[in-house]
Amino acid sequence: MPREQHRQRRKIDARRLAIDIARQAMLQLYRLSVERARRGDYETARRLIEHALEIHRRLRVRKPIPLRRAICPNCHAPLVPGVTARVRLRSRGKHIRITTTCLLCGYMLRIEERKS
Ligand SMILES: [Zn+2]
Repeated sequence: MPREQHRQRRKIDARRLAIDIARQAMLQLYRLSVERARRGDYETARRLIEHALEIHRRLRVRKPIPLRRAICPNCHAPLVPGVTARVRLRSRGKHIRITTTCLLCGYMLRIEERKS
């Protein structure tokens, strides 16, 4: 393999590894945040989410699913049903509308999904 090509591949592998580590870190921060929220420590819970979002912004990696759907876009609290969030489902034809209300600030996050 020509040397140039070899170097290119190593660069790609390094990026992939960095993305993987970043994703693991974001998920771990999310898990810790949920744990904090369950204990009623909302301030720490928010800070942990903000750290995770910081990784997302700085490294320009995609947010893992919990960070896309299960955090409050307004106050950055993790949305844990029964703890920091109320979840309501509503059927709308072929779709289902999921409304998650943040109990800390009142923000309503609406997601529509196809019924499976
Ligand atoms: Zn909120």
